[in-house]
Amino acid sequence: MSDVLEVLNPATEETVATIPAAPADRARLLRRFAAVVDGHIEELALLEVREAGHTIGNARWEAGNVRDLLDFAAGGVERLSGRQIPVAGGIDVTFLEPLGVIGVIAPWNFPMPIAAWGLAPALAAGNAVILKPAETTPLTALRLAELALEAGIPEYLFQVLPGRGTVAGDALVEHPGVAKIVFTGSTRVGKQIMAKCADRVKRVTLELGGKSPNIVFADADLEAAAAAAPMAFLDNTGQDCCARTRILVQRSAYDRFLELLAPGIESVVVGDPADEKTQMGPLISRAQLERVRSYVTDDLTAVRGRAPEGPGFWYPPTLVTDAGPTAPVATEEVFGPVAVVLPFEDEEDAVRLANATEYGLSGSLWTRDIGRALRVSRAVAAGNLSVNSHSSVRYSTPFGGYKQSGLGRELGPDALTAFTETKNVFISTEA
Ligand code: NAD
Repeated sequence: MSDVLEVLNPATEETVATIPAAPADRARLLRRFAAVVDGHIEELALLEVREAGHTIGNARWEAGNVRDLLDFAAGGVERLSGRQIPVAGGIDVTFLEPLGVIGVIAPWNFPMPIAAWGLAPALAAGNAVILKPAETTPLTALRLAELALEAGIPEYLFQVLPGRGTVAGDALVEHPGVAKIVFTGSTRVGKQIMAKCADRVKRVTLELGGKSPNIVFADADLEAAAAAAPMAFLDNTGQDCCARTRILVQRSAYDRFLELLAPGIESVVVGDPADEKTQMGPLISRAQLERVRSYVTDDLTAVRGRAPEGPGFWYPPTLVTDAGPTAPVATEEVFGPVAVVLPFEDEEDAVRLANATEYGLSGSLWTRDIGRALRVSRAVAAGNLSVNSHSSVRYSTPFGGYKQSGLGRELGPDALTAFTETKNVFISTEA
């Protein structure tokens, strides 16, 4: 697949070696990487099913997302331009220069896409990347590195460094040769990394936790809102930083909405993630299962779905109906198939409740009133909002958190710029 240079012995015309040619064209190389990934979607998806328990449908989407990100980033290579700024006495231009080596530290909940969110734009902007996958999910990252080589990306531009966070991850954070850390994971570790990066003024992008609201106004299409609400917190078994785990419902529609919502939770198909019909698989590990269990204490009332028994880290879809707004299950990120439902009175109350959290990653609101949709979208302090839908992530639109959900943005039109330093050059015309 890759360009190769054939080295000939001039005395014998025998081939001494064939070596990959270093790239002259980043965009072409990234497109080739995308094409190689495209040829391995099913293989990568099955790897994700086996190592992370993702449903096969989700895993195929995730592998496709890697391909799309590489394609999208490739399209940005030639568009990554500086500016020419009018000044007196000369001309002034800016250059967007690569930072150098980027350390991408990825979590286990979406191992492939999140690795690619950093990897693709960083390479496109002219950097090298070292990817540290999570301890439990290194396999897709390692396979992606092989596919990159097959596509002709030189080994020194993309490497995978599996290992423990406190060892391999920390080495990237501490290393003076790493110019920027892109970290996705828990808010706790994100804060530690930010503090360490401060020592060297190392650049950092943080994508951290969330406790996102799903706000349902009484004037909404309640049937549509109720039909969409279960998978908005159960997708990926709730191990999703954008999971809409606080369902806020206007009091006048509360009882009707719960009536519509409960059957949707009870009927979610939970089971073998490799089965095409499965909607929700297991949690990632026993530790995660214990963590989820600890939030749903015996004194709470819940609507529950079904989950398999026997081996595996299974937890049923669970909607807690009587937690107060300050209970741990209503305020902390559970990272499992658990949501709470809380009533609100009016628009002001909805915004107050939605913002009563340290997090600010995503949110949804359901209403037929376009003015209200805009007012509430602007008032909720979160980076990614959707109206009458639960969509959060598109490679072409920016993604990131307010407050303790993160720092900086990934994806979208400015994805490559986040991996550059701006240099300003003034050239005198008076000399
Ligand atoms: P985690 O913070 O424990 O680990 C994330 C990554 O950091 C892993 O690769 C881990 O090995 C590494 N790491 C751990 N300690 C480190 C240290 N001291 N120095 C350097 N690296 C270290 O998180 P997790 O358990 O893998 O992921 C779950 C969390 O991630 C959840 O809280 C979730 O909300 C969050 N998350 C956020 C987003 C987002 O985009 N905002 C996306 C996915 C996950």
